[in-house]
Amino acid sequence: MVFTDLSSINVKGCLPRLSRYRRGHGWLVVVVFGLLLVQTGQAQECPRGPGLTLQVLGSGGPVADDDRASSAYLVWQDGQARVMVDAGGGSFLRFGQARARFEDLDLIAISHFHADHSADLPALLKAGYFSSRARRLSISGPEEGGPFPALKAFVDRLVGGRGAFAYLSGYLDGSDGLVALDLLAVDHRNEKSATVVDQDGLRVTALGVPHGIVPTLAYRVEANGQSIVFGSDQNGSSARFSEFAQGASILIAHLAIPESASGVARKLHAPPSVIGRIARESGTQTLVLSHLMSRSLEDLPNSLALIRLQFSGNIILAEDLQCYEAEQNPREFKLDNERRNPN
Ligand SMILES: [Zn+2]
Repeated sequence: MVFTDLSSINVKGCLPRLSRYRRGHGWLVVVVFGLLLVQTGQAQECPRGPGLTLQVLGSGGPVADDDRASSAYLVWQDGQARVMVDAGGGSFLRFGQARARFEDLDLIAISHFHADHSADLPALLKAGYFSSRARRLSISGPEEGGPFPALKAFVDRLVGGRGAFAYLSGYLDGSDGLVALDLLAVDHRNEKSATVVDQDGLRVTALGVPHGIVPTLAYRVEANGQSIVFGSDQNGSSARFSEFAQGASILIAHLAIPESASGVARKLHAPPSVIGRIARESGTQTLVLSHLMSRSLEDLPNSLALIRLQFSGNIILAEDLQCYEAEQNPREFKLDNERRNPN
């Protein structure tokens, strides 16, 4: 018997409707998640308010078993997509569907160089060739570690003079009609977070998080007193991350594995109980679960219950192209998905 409250978990296409079940029922409601319907293939623009809005470009992981793009997100402010976090496969398409503009980006922040977080970067840079952008573009990422290159080497192997896409090498020096890149490498081994961007009221900081041997960064985007924290792939074993995510309006956590996972998967990723603990410790208002695949969805009711045991705020399952406003009052958080699919 599990005492839980699933009422504020925002899940699309679930039967029966979760909002019927309130704290105190005493029984874990076995919910049949028949189809997690994902609306794809449609353009979707975010609200154009002054506050921060998270838009999920890719809510999936490295497994191509559903309609989700791999990891990628946008942070909108004043109608502009100012920060893109990760550029996994499929994010090129979603970027266009979001009606984001290459000209508006202040930063492309890559968490790590697994393909499901970075593979569409050259496609986006090529698209930038056709934009009217005149100012430089910042890209951030981790330093070298194990078989993974440092940010500079990664970009060099893509668009350097001897790179796979050497015809885009103008990005290194601003020649050939391309804008120069500012490469902002962050040492993931540092115990303290590093400031990546601090301009025009927008602040982005990065902190290394444990993801096996893969150098990986979490990011925190702040403006207007609001904050969106991207935990990226991590196993949740660093206490520093909860501190880094303290008071986040929105925390994006990657639900990559069920509680029963072990071995390599557990070394790389945090199970639901750890995600719940981090969400509670950080005092976040809204938890967005992303990086979803059949592996992470197979035991979803139990995973959600385990998270709910520790975290009483809003819980939302990410979907490609959905927008989530970082509102000051989480009780006003929109339940778009539930409204669209009441049954
Ligand atoms: Zn991943």
